[in-house]
Amino acid sequence: MTTQIAIRSLEKYYGAFHALKNIELEIEKGSFVALVGPSGCGKSTLLRSMAGLETISSGEIRIEDEDVSDMPPRKRDVAMVFQSYALYPHMTVEQNLTYSLRWKKVAKAERHKRAQEVAASTGLGELLHRYPRELSGGQRQRVAMGRAIIRNPRAFLFDEPLSNLDAALRVQMRKEIRALHNRLGATSVYVTHDQIEAMTMADYVVVMRKGVIEQRGRPLELYEQPVNRFVAGFIGSPAMNFVDGTVCEDGKSVSLDALNGERLAVSHTLAPNRRVTLGLRPEHLQLAKNDAALHMKVGLAESTGSVTYLSSPDDLITVVSGGREGVREGDVIGLTIDPELVHVFDAETEQRI
Ligand code: ATP
Repeated sequence: MTTQIAIRSLEKYYGAFHALKNIELEIEKGSFVALVGPSGCGKSTLLRSMAGLETISSGEIRIEDEDVSDMPPRKRDVAMVFQSYALYPHMTVEQNLTYSLRWKKVAKAERHKRAQEVAASTGLGELLHRYPRELSGGQRQRVAMGRAIIRNPRAFLFDEPLSNLDAALRVQMRKEIRALHNRLGATSVYVTHDQIEAMTMADYVVVMRKGVIEQRGRPLELYEQPVNRFVAGFIGSPAMNFVDGTVCEDGKSVSLDALNGERLAVSHTLAPNRRVTLGLRPEHLQLAKNDAALHMKVGLAESTGSVTYLSSPDDLITVVSGGREGVREGDVIGLTIDPELVHVFDAETEQRI
């Protein structure tokens, strides 16, 4: 695999504020990488550093093995796509698309040909003569995409491009962007705070917190093997349940602080009396009539028709069950979980055990 973008020992300060801490990241050519994390974690700063819109404090950014750390944005040959579209209101779709080509002094006939090609590939074929105000949100987003595509950049950098769109359109545009990425054989870096967007679109997801990369991995790797409690809680929807407890004398089960001190089996042997936090995904907890390991009173039962979300009165535990279990608020339900699906974290360090 060829590395398209390499980031080494990157540090970024805004005055005294340490926004990015020792960032090491390699992005393979042709891959789609999502940067996710809570608000303020530094994902936009990292993306903007790649684009050259932020100067880095130290470290190095290489694109196709060229050191671009001190290079102005225009020379880096990467294209940013923003949520605000940043279209020129007084220009038609075609003029918006070909703006960068005019800068590069590409001849008019060639510009027109390229605009038509890009319009066809982004579903804008009929709209070349319209102005941005005459377009829907999704169409504007396509123009923003098309404007990036026409430059044939070394990488596409997306900064929350779909935040302005409604839920249905987001899902559709997600698919379109991913399909375009595949068709173009592009390298894409995509910032989002929406972990579902990241999980469904990306080959690799980078989870950030407070300026640090906590984990980089394939979507399922993050879901199945989160390195710590933070990543475990960030990836997955509804979020993972966390329950503290103490490892029993047998080393193979944990007595929980909540849930009446009931015991839950784990898949590998732990040191007795160790304090741990168990991570239980809502979709992995199963309703059980007999042989239930845990018992929970239902404080709230919310049904969407296809699934029902059951939560304990203290909101500590959420269970996703089928739509037709007939469980009501106030019922006490029995639960089981496959020990292989129980995540174990050290209670203090919060690292996966
Ligand atoms: P969001 O999802 O809210 O956009 P983010 O993860 O993209 O968040 P950044 O925009 O990268 O976060 O900001 C990272 C941190 O750096 C934040 O705490 C922010 O307040 C701070 N920051 C960003 N830009 C500046 C600036 N120009 N001056 C000072 N601090 C800044």
